[in-house]
Amino acid sequence: MSDTQIELSNINKHYGTFHALKNVNLRIEKGSFVALVGPSGCGKSTLLRSLAGLESISGGTMRIAGNVANNVPPRKRDVAMVFQSYALYPHMTVAENLTYSLRIKGIKKAEARKAAEEIATTTGLTGLLDRYPRELSGGQRQRVAMGRAIIRHPKAFLFDEPLSNLDAALRVQMRKEIRSLHDRLGATSVYVTHDQIEAMTMADFVVVMRDGVIEQQGRPLELYDTPSNKFVAGFIGSPAMNFVPGTISANGTEVVLDFPDAPSIVLGRQVEPNRKVTVGLRPEHLSVVSLDEASITVSVQAVESTGSMTYVTSATTPELTVVETGRSGAKSGETVGVRIEPSNIHLFDSATDQSI
Ligand code: ATP
Repeated sequence: MSDTQIELSNINKHYGTFHALKNVNLRIEKGSFVALVGPSGCGKSTLLRSLAGLESISGGTMRIAGNVANNVPPRKRDVAMVFQSYALYPHMTVAENLTYSLRIKGIKKAEARKAAEEIATTTGLTGLLDRYPRELSGGQRQRVAMGRAIIRHPKAFLFDEPLSNLDAALRVQMRKEIRSLHDRLGATSVYVTHDQIEAMTMADFVVVMRDGVIEQQGRPLELYDTPSNKFVAGFIGSPAMNFVPGTISANGTEVVLDFPDAPSIVLGRQVEPNRKVTVGLRPEHLSVVSLDEASITVSVQAVESTGSMTYVTSATTPELTVVETGRSGAKSGETVGVRIEPSNIHLFDSATDQSI
């Protein structure tokens, strides 16, 4: 028996002539936390809404707990959506919001109240059951939205950017709360976000989308360490990976950066010779060094420090960002050396953008 809870096979979605989802294949294991991530318009909400039954798909098969769900109406899919806007009923108390789905199933008031009290304990809402949504903070409203989903014991939780309306500190706290709730409930969760840090920190498995296509799916650090193409490499990681043009040497063991006076870098592996490449360098893998230790020299344009980290950016040719822990000796306007560790170099075919 497979432990697959959700299985999407060749899902396509058209909005008129616009092709929003293109042959999407995805298997979500029971108990896993999967993040769908990608830039605005990539189709992640469309995919989630299709799973919830809020959008009809144009082709493919969608299975939830082994059963084909394509034509099952939203209420019968046994999945619970948690929205960014919370979607709480303003005229109902927290307890009434939490138990609405039970009450429409005919469950008695006293029993529903007891269930609400249990959920309040799970979600940190104890003492707030008789308040109205307007009397709650953003974080508390989000907990009610979560509680309302939990009370239904769904086969999967579907989150659509649930933390976007919260301030940065609360977002970090709520990330941990949602993930810990997921673990305690043994839930299956699909979580849409445009924030790759949210995806990387919360999920067991991250699905990167672009233009209706899944570009890569894998464990968070797998995507960071071995992105399959330039898009994923640039999307995962913050600040973003630097890209510079280069050429592989005639013997295929060195990369020559296309910059004046940049010496070639010995790769320590063999690549097809004379090939045009894009060289990917993560800012955190570069360091500012003295000129005699340098792989390349750059002219510093800006030095920005947050105290714990310093971001050094260079002017053009090559345009690079270097992240250093703590303070940096670099000063704006001066020429500094930058060290590139050959083992940290990513290479992409400059014609196809695929990883080499
Ligand atoms: P965002 O992060 O901005 O919400 P997204 O990745 O969730 O983006 P979707 O909302 O899934 O993107 O939209 C995917 C594409 O489908 C977009 O180009 C969007 O304009 C288009 N689209 C979405 N809904 C409709 C609709 N009802 N009619 C026509 N096009 C739509």
